[in-house]
Amino acid sequence: MPTLAIQGGQPAKTKPFPAWPIYDEREREALNEVLESGVWWRTPGTKTLAFERAFAAYHQAKHGIAVTNGTHALEVALAAMGIGPGDEVIVPNATFVATASAVLFAGALPVPVDVSADSYCIDPELAEAAINENTKAIIAVHLGGRPADLDQLTAVAQKHGVTLLEDAAHAHGSEWRGRKVGAFGIGGTFSFQASKTMTAGEGGMIISNDDEFERLARSTHDCGRLPGEWFYSHFMYGSNYRLSEWQGAVLLAQLTRLDEQTARRHANGRLLDGALSGIPGITPQSHDRRISRNGHYAYIFHYDKRAFAGVDTGRFVSALEAEGVPTQAPYPPLHALDVFTSGAYRSRLSGAQASARHDFLRQPYPNSEREAWETVWITQNALLGDEEDMGEIAAAIGKIAENARDLI
Ligand SMILES: *Cc1c(COP(=O)(O)O)cnc(C)c1O
Repeated sequence: MPTLAIQGGQPAKTKPFPAWPIYDEREREALNEVLESGVWWRTPGTKTLAFERAFAAYHQAKHGIAVTNGTHALEVALAAMGIGPGDEVIVPNATFVATASAVLFAGALPVPVDVSADSYCIDPELAEAAINENTKAIIAVHLGGRPADLDQLTAVAQKHGVTLLEDAAHAHGSEWRGRKVGAFGIGGTFSFQASKTMTAGEGGMIISNDDEFERLARSTHDCGRLPGEWFYSHFMYGSNYRLSEWQGAVLLAQLTRLDEQTARRHANGRLLDGALSGIPGITPQSHDRRISRNGHYAYIFHYDKRAFAGVDTGRFVSALEAEGVPTQAPYPPLHALDVFTSGAYRSRLSGAQASARHDFLRQPYPNSEREAWETVWITQNALLGDEEDMGEIAAAIGKIAENARDLI
């Protein structure tokens, strides 16, 4: 039996995966054009505006508002939704902190609910059960690019008169029933941070089909201004969340590759689903036939250590990395973050909400724990490889399975 790479053997994977970020002359020329034009900021510029329109159109949405990052996209969206003190917003417990911190920034209470056991996306039934008279919205997160159950979430939101917002920071180009994600509810937010599947280092976007939401979000992101009005008229509370022309230019170039790249990640993801399902103890994040495309910010699978001689997840991940397969850490559950366990989050709240018990933060969240401590995330650039690469990922995991006893 070959020796594991972590113990000095040959790595299973020798051919490197595509490096991320990917760029070429398109980015270089676009940046140079901005440089020489002398127009480097959003307001009189053309690049960020063109990117907003192209990104929204690609996602089958009417409006796009480019902002500084994905966290700010959530903040601006929540402001446009009128979320504020006394309100509650339901969020999945398994997500990046921004989904909840944006709610706190609005002065409202994020209410984490558990995710489904196999999709790691918000459980629509638990979301429905958490709705009360203070609930204003549900934020769905398409974890790893896999769309949450948008049929059920839309139905729950409509039934109870709450607003659905999609945090699509992982899901550029993902589709549910043949339609791009992001505008199933009032709108959706995206991130262009360095690890995401389109990037300018930093950046964000809000898309929507709702004209009034768009008007309020656009004004919020530009100091309370309104399009067509005098520069120094400020109609409502706003701040400066504008994206620069440099980033707009780079993202316009990145967008030209998105369709081909997401098609490839989706196809490779399904190849891995097939190849890994034969390995005892490995269970890929559930696919769903309504997901016509998964943009795959990551490839996520559940790791059951009982099938690997009891080797814990961290040790397995180290062994996998040594074999040449890149991974990234899953999210710890929101309720276990210091900001919640210490009570620090209460400084953003006011009135009765600031001192209420919030017992939900102390409930068990078994599936979020499963996501946090028992899943493995292969980074998205690996999914840009070819069929042979996917076979080699499966072979690396198979090799660890066969040699698991050596890791104890
Ligand atoms: C990355 C991310 C964000 C925040 O985006 P930034 O651009 O890093 O601010 C929000 N939600 C999720 C789920 C993310 O992964």
